[in-house]
Order: sequence, then structure tokens, then C-alpha cells
Amino acid sequence: MTTGLEAAIEEAARRIASSRYVVALVGAGLSAESGVPTFRGPEGLWTKHGEPDLRDYERFVEDPKRWWEMRQERASRFAELAQALESAVPNAGHLALRDLEEMGQLQHIITQNIDNLHQMAGSQAITEIHGNRTKMRCVLCNRRWPVEGFVIDELPPKCPECRSGIVKGDTVMFGEPIPRDALDECINQSRMCDCMLLIGTSAVVYPAAQFPIDVKSSGGVLIEVNPNETPLTSLCEVVLRAPAGEALTGVVEWLRQR
Ligand SMILES: [Zn+2]
Repeated sequence: MTTGLEAAIEEAARRIASSRYVVALVGAGLSAESGVPTFRGPEGLWTKHGEPDLRDYERFVEDPKRWWEMRQERASRFAELAQALESAVPNAGHLALRDLEEMGQLQHIITQNIDNLHQMAGSQAITEIHGNRTKMRCVLCNRRWPVEGFVIDELPPKCPECRSGIVKGDTVMFGEPIPRDALDECINQSRMCDCMLLIGTSAVVYPAAQFPIDVKSSGGVLIEVNPNETPLTSLCEVVLRAPAGEALTGVVEWLRQR
């Protein structure tokens, strides 16, 4: 394992450059660098406001109309998060990932974040495991639409495409299965991947936890970008013990100068 930030940046850049198919697995740590509050940890929203309703999706399935009516009430509880999300902009880490994609050094981003910041940064190839807060989704056919401009004329809203599914926010709720299309894409990407960047994630939550394991077991390289040690650290060939903004910017600069 390579440590020491300068040496680690160089080692990471070399590994990325010599890899065939690089995928970034991104977690809450990257969004935190944009001021988006995390859920867990001492300053986490759940720590401050209590654990979320684990039966959220179950309640939606039981009574979607009621769930939609409750949506406004629940929104006030997470007003802090909503406000932070509204004002969040991509940070240097997001921009570095976009640069890596443009340079042909990064093939795909699998993100656990719902904040749309990768898109705002200009990244193209993105799979969102937990959905996107700016989109709506049909729970039956998985078609998605921007929240803005989606007309709701009945509760619960019906899918304008398949006309039988119910539409909800794209963000995956507690107890809700990961949308099949997103999960399949993640599995597909992990199969092709021979170098995975683990950015701001401890990847302890299924299904994200499985992807680095799969890459590792098929002979791929794991590179961790995280200010803190994680359960994955011991599996990684290279560890960048720094915020993503600093570490990934360093990697981009190294690759540009080579
Ligand atoms: Zn539908």
C-alpha cells in the first residue's frame, strides 16, 4: 500500500493511466465537501433529528395517495437538508471527475448521492444508485422526468408513459428496492472495471458494498480517496488520505503534466 499524499497521487495517476476501464464509486463524503450535510456521524442529520422512518416505502406502497399528502409535512423535517441541497454547487472533486472523464481516464461514475452535483459539474456517464432528487420516477417502468415541469393533476400521480405505474420522487426511500435498471448498470460497470476509485464512501451499505469486492476478486485495482480510514482501506492498493477536492485535483494535474 502506498501512503504519503504526493507519492499516493502519483501512484494513483499511474494506475489510472494504465487501466483499461476506470469506475468511480462515490459516497456522501464528496457531497459533504460541497456543504451537503451527511446523515450519519456526529453532525449527521439522523444524529440531530432522529432516525428516518424505515417503513417509508412500505407506507408508500400501502397508500400512495396518503404518502403524497404527507410529503409536505415530512419536507419540513428535512428543511435543513433541502436548503443545503438547493444551494450546493459542485466542488473541486466533482470537477476533477469531470476532467478525468473528458481526458478519457474515467469511464463511469456510480454515485450514492442524490444531489445532481455530478451532472452540474458536467460529468456524462453516471449511474445513481439512490436516485436523483431533481427527478421523478415511475415505480413500474422506471421512466424518469425532471421534477420541474412534471404536472401532477391527481394524487397519486400516474405514469404518463405506461399509464399503470405510480410516480414518486426518484430518490430511493428506506425499504425501497434499488431501481432494477440502476442496479443492473452498476453490476455491468463493475464487471468491466479494472480500476475502481472509492471516493468519500465506506461502502458498508449493500449494494454499493459489493462492487469493490467484485472488482478486487476479478483482479482489479482499488484506489481509496477518503480523509478517513474505512472498512475497505485494507483492500486498496493505493490510499489517498485527503479530501477528494485536493486528492483528485492532484491526480488530474499529474496526468496533464505527464
Ligand atoms: Zn410507467
